[in-house]
Amino acid sequence: MTTCSVSVRRCEDYDTSKIEKILRKQLSELGINLSDFAGKRIVVKPNLVVASKPDTASCTNPAVIEAVSKIAVSSGADVTIAESPGGPFTLSLMKHNYKVNKVDEAAKNSGAVLNTDMGFQTMSAPNAKNSKNFNIINAIADADVILNVCKLKTHTLTGMTNAVKNLFGAIPGTQKVEMHARFSNQQKFGDVLIDLCDMLCSSKRVISFCDAVIGMEGNGPSGGTPRKVGCLLVSENPYALDLAASQIICHDGEVPMIEEAKRRGLCPKEGEIRILGDDINSFRVKDYLHSDAKRGKIFSLLPPFLQPKPDVILSKCVGCGKCAENCPANAISVNDGKAVIDRKGCIKCFCCQELCPIHAVDIKKNIIFKLIR
Ligand code: SF4
Ligand code: SF4
Repeated sequence: MTTCSVSVRRCEDYDTSKIEKILRKQLSELGINLSDFAGKRIVVKPNLVVASKPDTASCTNPAVIEAVSKIAVSSGADVTIAESPGGPFTLSLMKHNYKVNKVDEAAKNSGAVLNTDMGFQTMSAPNAKNSKNFNIINAIADADVILNVCKLKTHTLTGMTNAVKNLFGAIPGTQKVEMHARFSNQQKFGDVLIDLCDMLCSSKRVISFCDAVIGMEGNGPSGGTPRKVGCLLVSENPYALDLAASQIICHDGEVPMIEEAKRRGLCPKEGEIRILGDDINSFRVKDYLHSDAKRGKIFSLLPPFLQPKPDVILSKCVGCGKCAENCPANAISVNDGKAVIDRKGCIKCFCCQELCPIHAVDIKKNIIFKLIR
């Protein structure tokens, strides 16, 4: 990874033509030549973690996906939009996700195609520290270039999800659950995300685009609150982009996977990133809320009953079983139409909170935490 440049530019709303203009300027100031893409297989990889309407800010906004796809198509590349969200990786679920997130319209307007190949293949990661191979969906494994179109959000397990974490969506569907079970705490999970990101960046050209026009704060990646940030970030170094984004939301030094990337020499240190475009300080959001789980980390040395934990809101739960299907510890059962969590088995990965379609899983806060808020 040679480049440490990140372009940050103001963008106030989701007007596709304005976004396209800004992104073209950013690519140009980063020295990225679009003619390099002619004839290449490009995959546009958005964050479509759940099927939810764009105004929830859970996923990359379709206007950003459309603008990136238009740029790629106009360069003469063969462009596919692909993602593998949580839950089973099936065509019917993907079609539903594309429709609700309005990505079907983004594809139609840009000339890109939506991925319908639900297959995967194994890629080896010889330099990885934790996992020497990864199963990767075909659309990403077969691509020459990945346009990694992430969304700036808080995350209950990793602290923040942005460019590096977005590539976890290259792992097919429920196989992500196995990864959570194998790498079951924040540090281990962050380490394996770096292995995955490094493997993809070593074998393909990866350019990351961050939708930080409206981010998500609080209990992200799907249960938080939309928060205006007002910018777009672009970089060929996903770690540097994440570091810059963490500075914007004032979470710098607090995201374990970025710290691991620094230790491995993949991410520049603070002060070593070259910021292009607008003044990064003008976008800082000083009171951007952490997730309850992240804020509760200070209590990690306390007994388990005082630590933050997932809690089913029984009045909201409809007993669909999605949380149970995706619980890596098999700690959830559905009894009498309501999800029940076995506290002893729970490894606090917060996948249930991330994937519940109606936000019926909350983060239960301990009494000390409530007092200091
Ligand atoms: S908690 Fe959410 S995902 Fe789990 S069964 Fe209830 S509604 Fe479904
Ligand atoms: S109950 Fe929720 S937080 Fe606990 S292991 Fe299962 S999915 Fe993870």
